[in-house]
Amino acid sequence: MIQAPVSNELFERAQHTIPGGVNSPVRAFRAVGGNPRFMVSAKGPYMFDEDGNQYVEFINSWGPMILGHAPAVVQEAVMAAVPNSLSFGAPTRKEVEMAELIVSMVPGIEKVRMVNSGTEATMSAVRVARGYTGRSKFIKFEGCYHGHGDSFLISAGSGAITLGVPDSPGVTTGVAADTLTAPYNDLNAVQTLVDANKGEIAAIILEPVAGNMGLVVPEQGFLQGLRDICDKEGIVLIFDEVMTGFRLASGGAQQLYGVTPDMTTLGKIIGGGMPVGAYGGKAEIMNYVAPAGPVYQAGTLSGNPIAMSAGMAMLSHLKNNPEVYAQLEQTAARMVAGMEANMQKLGVKFTINRVGSMFSIFFTDKPVTDFESAKTSDTALFGKYFNAMLKRGIYLAPSQYEALFIST
Ligand code: PLP
Repeated sequence: MIQAPVSNELFERAQHTIPGGVNSPVRAFRAVGGNPRFMVSAKGPYMFDEDGNQYVEFINSWGPMILGHAPAVVQEAVMAAVPNSLSFGAPTRKEVEMAELIVSMVPGIEKVRMVNSGTEATMSAVRVARGYTGRSKFIKFEGCYHGHGDSFLISAGSGAITLGVPDSPGVTTGVAADTLTAPYNDLNAVQTLVDANKGEIAAIILEPVAGNMGLVVPEQGFLQGLRDICDKEGIVLIFDEVMTGFRLASGGAQQLYGVTPDMTTLGKIIGGGMPVGAYGGKAEIMNYVAPAGPVYQAGTLSGNPIAMSAGMAMLSHLKNNPEVYAQLEQTAARMVAGMEANMQKLGVKFTINRVGSMFSIFFTDKPVTDFESAKTSDTALFGKYFNAMLKRGIYLAPSQYEALFIST
């Protein structure tokens, strides 16, 4: 059994220097009435906290560590790169090879640009889509999260992550003027928005599997339906695969569901634990990026050799060892079966959504297919379960919608 932290000294210090305290899990710890545990190291499936407790980690640091923490392939690649390239401001072979690797793995990407995070990737993709279409509006889905950038993200159903306090100076909590929002899994709503804004919509952006609502799965025909609307109306379809890319299959959700978007955004796994993001798509669209096209895009550290080395080690491993995905899926299926049995025994109401190695437990007995149904998960039950598991050394991911999000 895990002991409560002896001292919360670091937690106190963080309050003074970091607005809002340390990174996002703190919010979740607070939501369940506790202070965060500070981790000192992680290896394979385990994390170790400052008080010497060991946890089995089921969030993969929110997604990137598909091979567990500190995988040898990535560690070796980084160690080999560091002596030659702590800083590098010139083109390197590694950036080209990384781009070729991504293009070879992701069906919808013919050309790709490297950035430093998923947020940058989505913001860049939206800018390029606007440049390409000459239109400014776009459609996003309630509850989908596309990073902490402003404008198109503001409010739009992204809950705790993007909402500020209403009416605070400088905080816009309404939906940005050129963002139209639709409920997930509702093609009719999308068609209605498109019809009401004929010729004005640059892009439809979504998480093809909505990990940030807990986990909401696209209903049969939803992704293809969006593809058809976009083809008919000259709209750029953007799959934000920051969470699903290289996770649900080596080619991401678009490979799993057989629907190819015009643009794709990537993050998390792509860096093997280093800060890397990327966005890409059809060559015709990506050629709008400067200097070939008018949309400026550059980044001091984008494509830096250390990050590229880590990313390439991770992606090559996944490409060359496709059995990883079947193994992860089997593990997830076993865990779901165990949790289902456990919940039934406890008499707790629950709904589990799962795709491949990602699954989520909502504390509700209703099907969860969109933002509204995701919100019916019972906060108190969620807190109880989260804390009970933490005490047993099982570190689950508390999603902002009071569902437990788990990726094996
Ligand atoms: N898009 C999706 C679908 C995400 O899940 C995230 C992060 O959780 C982002 C974008 C933002 O990525 P980052 O946190 O690397 O900026």
